[in-house]
Amino acid sequence: MNQKAADYAADTAVMQTYGRAEIGFVRGDGCWLESDSGEKYLDCASGIAVNTLGHSHPRLVAALTEQAGKLWHTSNLYRIPGQEIVAKMLARLSGLDQVFFCNSGAEATEAAVKIARRAAYEKGEPERVTILCAKGAFHGRTLGMLAATDRPVFRTGFGPMPAGFDHVAFGNLNELRDSLGSHVAAVMVESVQGEGGARQVPDGYLAGVRKAADEFGALVIADEVQAGIGRTGRLFSYEDTAIKPDIVALAKGLAGGFPIGAVIASKAVGSAMTPGTHGSTFGGNPLAMAAAQTVLEVLSEDGFLAGVRERAAYLDAEIIRLQAQFPDLISELRGRGFLRGIRLAETVDLLALVGALRDDRLLTVPAADNTLRLLPPLTIERDEIDLAVAKLGGALAAITPAKA
Ligand SMILES: *Cc1c(COP(=O)(O)O)cnc(C)c1O
Repeated sequence: MNQKAADYAADTAVMQTYGRAEIGFVRGDGCWLESDSGEKYLDCASGIAVNTLGHSHPRLVAALTEQAGKLWHTSNLYRIPGQEIVAKMLARLSGLDQVFFCNSGAEATEAAVKIARRAAYEKGEPERVTILCAKGAFHGRTLGMLAATDRPVFRTGFGPMPAGFDHVAFGNLNELRDSLGSHVAAVMVESVQGEGGARQVPDGYLAGVRKAADEFGALVIADEVQAGIGRTGRLFSYEDTAIKPDIVALAKGLAGGFPIGAVIASKAVGSAMTPGTHGSTFGGNPLAMAAAQTVLEVLSEDGFLAGVRERAAYLDAEIIRLQAQFPDLISELRGRGFLRGIRLAETVDLLALVGALRDDRLLTVPAADNTLRLLPPLTIERDEIDLAVAKLGGALAAITPAKA
């Protein structure tokens, strides 16, 4: 079957929860995607920060096809050898102790919240239930994580939200401290808010969160679903700050495109989670584990993350050059590594720009705050960065001619 793009919209049976572009991709190779009409697109979206190693990475293809020929699924009623391996890798890499596997980001953040509340309960503090989140946060779309997400419009028409989530001003330690107390189970933080506009917390903020949480007896949950797994040039985005969270939620990039979620927790916190307290039928199945093991092996290789940082710095310099060329259009460079945000002036129509870039065969992702996100595979090469920046420059020039 080779249906042309134009046929897709007509009479679709797919629920219209997304404003989808009229392109269907049928093949991918590295940073490139090929549409059903044979056109090649440069992928600086990575399926929203998922295709960590690009498309059809030979080692991922080999790992997944090998596992597919052996065993797909057994449930968590039995030991899953791949889980033992990936859990050890994540524990070693994070310095934490134990891992729960699920299938998506929202499941991971939700499990993180359950673990934090249960830990307080087991300590004899059942009133410690509140999770402090940030304004502008995105933690997922389940009812629980909608309550954690600060996007009121996402909640419209979905009935009562679960209680126990408060939102404090982004990056504001004083407000955080004022909101802490014996009712707070955890502070949940994205060190770079992806959906919120590639907004990075101010220097020193995470250390301040850690200190304040310790003082008030609360845990720290790092939502690394988007910023983790090498996206910022470190395996975990908080690593540069030397703080250690109690609980880390992972998903998007962890298995390079195979659905997965994971929560890493410290021993103390996790002892609250005994058989029967939580579960997932699919969580950590052998296919997901084969993919995740491969991604973690590649990212752990000597020089891989250093290479990401080096090429990300190159992208930075190129975008700064664009900003000098288009000072009226680009207002701010945001984010870090390959979770890069270009905040546009109010006058620029973000969705129109994303569309124009797509027409020029460059895939990008819009975010809040009129911010264009660049989320390329971590394997993107310099010549591909050059091409992406050239296309971006062309699209900006079509809005307003560049300054000389
Ligand atoms: C995408 C995202 C989620 C939700 O992940 P899903 O897999 O879509 O459920 C949660 N937190 C952050 C920071 C994300 O970027």
